[in-house]
Amino acid sequence: MNTTDPSEQNLIFPQGEKANPDYFTGNAWVKLLVNENEFNSVIGNVTFEAGARNNWHTHPGGQILIVTDGIGYYQEKDKPIQSIQRGDVIKIPADIKHWHGASRDSSLTHIAITAVTPKGSIDWLERVTDKEFNSYSVS
Ligand code: MN
Repeated sequence: MNTTDPSEQNLIFPQGEKANPDYFTGNAWVKLLVNENEFNSVIGNVTFEAGARNNWHTHPGGQILIVTDGIGYYQEKDKPIQSIQRGDVIKIPADIKHWHGASRDSSLTHIAITAVTPKGSIDWLERVTDKEFNSYSVS
């Protein structure tokens, strides 16, 4: 790669397209790796800038996140925010309301493997408010 930016030299996949702002707060990018017509899963590489996160949502068939870079947050409804980082694998059961994204001070990159079911792969819900996002505290 023709870059002097160390953070770009470590990219495994291209950054991809800007994520849909209807479903993301802050800047995020999605590189689709496997589309849902090939297998019963959709696989994407997602990069979140510090402070960026997706809306609350559910997956009818569940989802696996493989964190490849940075530090971020994962939260299930009615539970505290968990810190996630490079090397973590998060298994999200079907129909559990949750969100994921970067932390306040670091970007996050994860691979998302989402099961495709007759009910689809994702149902988007409301935004994660700043108050919710900022509720993270070290336990
Ligand atoms: Mn998810």
